[in-house]
Amino acid sequence: MKIVLITGASRGIGRATALACARRGLGVSATYNSNRLSAEAVVQQIEAEGGQATALYLDVTNIAGFDAFSRQVADVLKRTWGRDSFDYLVNNAGVGGFEPIVSVSEAQFDGLMNVHLKGPFFLTQSLLPLMADGGAIVNVTSATTRVATSGVAPYAACKGGLEVLTRYMAKEFGGRRIRANAVSPGAIRTDLGGLDSHPEFEELLASQTALARVGEPEDVAGVITSLLSPENAWVNAQSIEVGGGYCI
Ligand code: NDP
Repeated sequence: MKIVLITGASRGIGRATALACARRGLGVSATYNSNRLSAEAVVQQIEAEGGQATALYLDVTNIAGFDAFSRQVADVLKRTWGRDSFDYLVNNAGVGGFEPIVSVSEAQFDGLMNVHLKGPFFLTQSLLPLMADGGAIVNVTSATTRVATSGVAPYAACKGGLEVLTRYMAKEFGGRRIRANAVSPGAIRTDLGGLDSHPEFEELLASQTALARVGEPEDVAGVITSLLSPENAWVNAQSIEVGGGYCI
């Protein structure tokens, strides 16, 4: 059984990806930060559908904690699957934030940088020894790297950095046949986007999208899952926007 580790799998896109991967027969290690019960509910749902999953606490901003996290992952792999490696890593965990450049504080900037760029960089470095040769990484970026959207400059700049980092991962990990791709979602209905509490915003985004709606987490999960799978074994170092034709 192939195994995937997904960060931020308690909610939103990460949760949908965990369920989609399990339905494709992957073992799932789902990390959560503040919502342990939600992550456990994801595990329970996967198990109820006949799959195998575990939930692990992770704060992607706590780089000093990554060694201990890696040891915990190794332990879980051994206990749950009898393996000493996993196959796929999805760097998905994220937070939002809205602030025009003129008023962004250093703390806000650093917070976004730690979650969206520094965290995935050092988490991947830390987990790489546990990844099997021939595996794959998907980094979740954002369509805001292509479409400048007022108020999300630091977020988008970090995601742009993650997109560049994806190509460097593909370059440096290629010797072990580990692929790295980025998935760049458009507006997706999750807690992060806050669309449910701002229907007027959803209407605007839908009107800017060729398929005339905002995305659902499952729209992104399917692409991430497919990119990990052997059917996309020759897709590497790419960034794929999943936005229904957003601002084209
Ligand atoms: P959600 O708010 O629904 O979920 C965010 C997830 O990230 C949760 O599982 C949360 O864990 C986890 N998380 C947050 N902070 C940390 C942290 N410090 N350490 C570890 N985990 C953390 O967001 P989405 O599903 O929308 O976002 C997923 C990814 O998609 C993000 O990278 C986001 O930037 C990106 N994206 C989203 C878009 C959208 O419109 N929704 C558009 C473009 C990109 P917990 O709940 O346990 O705290």
